[in-house]
Amino acid sequence: MTPVTVFAGKTLALFGLGGSGLATARALVAGGAKVACWDDNQASRDKAAAEGLSVVDLASADWVGFAAFVLSPGVPLTHPAPHWTVEKARAANVPVIGDIELFFLERAKIAPAAPVVCITGTNGKSTTTALIAHVLEAAGRDVQMGGNIGTAVLALEPPALDRIHVVECSTFQIDLAPSIKPTVGIQMNLTPDHLDRHGTFEAYGAIKERLVAASDIAVIGVDDEPSKQMARRRAASGKPLVKISGEQPLDEGVFAGVTANAGQLDTRIVEVKDGKPRVVANLAGIGSLRGSHNAQNAAAAFAACAALGLTAEQIAAGFKSYPGLKHRMEELGRIGRVVFINDSKATNADSTEKALTSFREIFWILGGKAKEGGIESLRRYFPNIARAYLIGAASDTFAATFDDDGRVTYERSGMLDVAVAAATKAALAQQGTGEIAVLLSPACASYDQFPNFEVRGDAFRALVKALPGFEAVER
Ligand code: ADP
Repeated sequence: MTPVTVFAGKTLALFGLGGSGLATARALVAGGAKVACWDDNQASRDKAAAEGLSVVDLASADWVGFAAFVLSPGVPLTHPAPHWTVEKARAANVPVIGDIELFFLERAKIAPAAPVVCITGTNGKSTTTALIAHVLEAAGRDVQMGGNIGTAVLALEPPALDRIHVVECSTFQIDLAPSIKPTVGIQMNLTPDHLDRHGTFEAYGAIKERLVAASDIAVIGVDDEPSKQMARRRAASGKPLVKISGEQPLDEGVFAGVTANAGQLDTRIVEVKDGKPRVVANLAGIGSLRGSHNAQNAAAAFAACAALGLTAEQIAAGFKSYPGLKHRMEELGRIGRVVFINDSKATNADSTEKALTSFREIFWILGGKAKEGGIESLRRYFPNIARAYLIGAASDTFAATFDDDGRVTYERSGMLDVAVAAATKAALAQQGTGEIAVLLSPACASYDQFPNFEVRGDAFRALVKALPGFEAVER
């Protein structure tokens, strides 16, 4: 835990007693502050009270005495409308902040030069965060990883000079952290997302830009126009900038270059310094880093780790042993040339697209509770599909798309176990020599058959593990 001592002796209000809210309340109390906690949910309030936290009805509290108000990032600060607690705080002139703000305030007090890497962007945050933490750890560094991924930031060990914090930041968290000032700040990419919570695309981008603008070293993806403009503004400021790209050569920075090599696509990470390009890592054969989206993630991770003093060799070695995140194009193992991929996190067509671009011969298990638009947008990848296996409620809708398209043969498996058995049998019988994927990438929510995508992915893993001859990937 990182005890927050900057508010010692003061009283704060806190709303939202989920995982990060509870961790924040504990950290404040451990640092000597008093915290008036509240949540709309009775069970959450009971849980907080049971561990001795002070539960106070903030609706009827006197806000004037609060030194700050800590808001959970899941609760609206601005859009669609400020939460009632935010109105109360504003009326009483109480600053509204989040746990990342407390972390940076504490760091400024106890270890201002402690290295912190913050990662934001619309997509790839978790992958890049986990990859950076893994590479640093593999190189023998003391690493603490958390924020929007896994552990709440204040539940991590305190910042220290010989310890690196790797923190995934959502836009909501940055919006609540005016003192954020990472050693390395990464902005991956920007596409419309969560606009219901930020009002406009411009507002959403402006919040993300705050993170890199405040960083000692900014790492910015230049594969989309808004992020490219952020990079331009950063360059104009004269402060350190490393541009990264997952798809185009750069005259300076870190980019991924793809070359065809004996039927496989090789992705090399190239660092260009003082105009001189140098291949620094090769992603070929790294199952956890397949696909051009992961090339962007790897380029960002390279830039961050190099900025923290790792050698290219150390980073390349870390990439090789990266185990990947569960349920995101997760390579489970193989039977001969058939590789089994769990992409259960792909709950919409956009996410599934990444998986379909990453393999040439796919036995595709899909379906569940369909999202608007179904799999229409995926038609251009249908030539990569050897056969499809439909499960769940979306079967009719998806079958209609396949029928209309005419290029994909499919069967209605109904249940996941039936689909796995049929897809495996067909994949093993397939002629040829290249890699074949049995891929669960549902392009659907799971709720019709599973409580969530994790349970769906775990069910797939269990089925695959029980297959005769299956060899799991070592982690
Ligand atoms: P986030 O934490 O930003 O949601 P993740 O790393 O969890 O991102 O990846 C979620 C999904 O987004 C992945 O399954 C993949 O389909 C897609 N993705 C990952 N990295 C990128 C990227 N750099 N650009 C675009 N899409 C990506």
